[in-house]
Amino acid sequence: MSVENIYESALTRVKEIGHKAGISPEIINALCHPKSLMTASLPVRMDNGSTEFFTGYRCRYNTALGPTKGGIRYHPDVTREEVLALALWMTIKCAVVDLPYGGGKGGITVNPKALSAMELERLSRAYVRAMADFIGPEVDIPAPDVYTNARIMGWMLDEYESIKRVRAPGVITGKPISLGGSLGRDDATGRGAYLCIKELQRKNGWQPSDITVAVQGFGNGGYHAVRLLRNDGYNIVAVSDSKGAIYSAKGFDVQSLYEEKQRFNKLKAVYCNQSVCELVDHDVITNEDLLALEVDILIPAALEGVITKNNVHNIKARYIVEVANGPILAEVDDELFKRKVHVVPDVLANAGGVIVSYFEWVQNRQGYTWTLSEVHERLGEKMTRGFNEVWDLSKSEGISLRDAAYKLAFKRIGSAIEAHGTKEYFSS
Ligand code: GLU
Repeated sequence: MSVENIYESALTRVKEIGHKAGISPEIINALCHPKSLMTASLPVRMDNGSTEFFTGYRCRYNTALGPTKGGIRYHPDVTREEVLALALWMTIKCAVVDLPYGGGKGGITVNPKALSAMELERLSRAYVRAMADFIGPEVDIPAPDVYTNARIMGWMLDEYESIKRVRAPGVITGKPISLGGSLGRDDATGRGAYLCIKELQRKNGWQPSDITVAVQGFGNGGYHAVRLLRNDGYNIVAVSDSKGAIYSAKGFDVQSLYEEKQRFNKLKAVYCNQSVCELVDHDVITNEDLLALEVDILIPAALEGVITKNNVHNIKARYIVEVANGPILAEVDDELFKRKVHVVPDVLANAGGVIVSYFEWVQNRQGYTWTLSEVHERLGEKMTRGFNEVWDLSKSEGISLRDAAYKLAFKRIGSAIEAHGTKEYFSS
């Protein structure tokens, strides 16, 4: 299966797991029907004076548990199907970690690296002008995703507030702190994944220095996850970005790699002391080689559909922690389970981002800000509870962590759908 039909893969998984878990067909059917999808053409005045048209999407997938929540992605490969899949995963994710949100997602088909900062700002504002009546603090709350960040959220908030003529910080999360953003939102996705791995450590009695980790993707999620792991003594043996990967059995100093990448926009195997960097022993490998490494933990933290039936036989990792959304296609779930490759699914492993987005939204509604340690403590509580609920269900029923996470989410969403009024509700 190719990434073109990622939504089909996402639906297959919902139907299969729903069936195995004995979830009512009415609930599963509801989850196979996105509530609404807005497609807009976004005209942008380019720096050379011409006008270009970009396509923007926003999906409000399911609202059983609350207003829809989810990021906005800028990427050349964004399609309607991808946005639907990502919005479905947000629906499940919010339910797994028990947030009062439904799922949504947005995207623009664009290569943001090819735009100037001002073109990017005009594009972001055009997106909000098109979506201003579709989003809202009580309706649908966007946030950052791949290739979007706090700065872009700031432009979007500003545009929304100008259109509506109100202050509405709760319409968007992942904003700059000065506009009502939350402390701790920047590294929350990576920190959430790190907290999952700490739970695995506790359950398996791991000694961090014995544990090897490979990360595919060195963006916000992947970088912070391995930064925190490295600080605890884990051995980060391979790192990649979209251009390629580096490997060293001795492990890398994550901070040095990050600083080098910030400075020269290039991933390089260096060890830095202050600003003096020296090359360290390493192999240059491909992203595909990285996925096939014999490591304890593989962290796919780039894009969806990287582990498929074409390369699943190469996987040698004992654990896969999905920091990206949808890196493993449904078609290989069973094979990985049979081979005892434990997968901490995206809907749990990368939920730290949306959890702190929720905290940000709560703070905006309260008009009261929390300290960084309050945010960390509450994130820790929510992630650990979510992880253990999924873990316990998977152990008691002998099912995969993904099946357990989905089952938990289906039950939560299902009881909300029933409480809103369904056949079952009226017949009891
Ligand atoms: N884009 C992130 C995700 O996929 C965060 C969403 C949010 O904070 O609303 O979970």
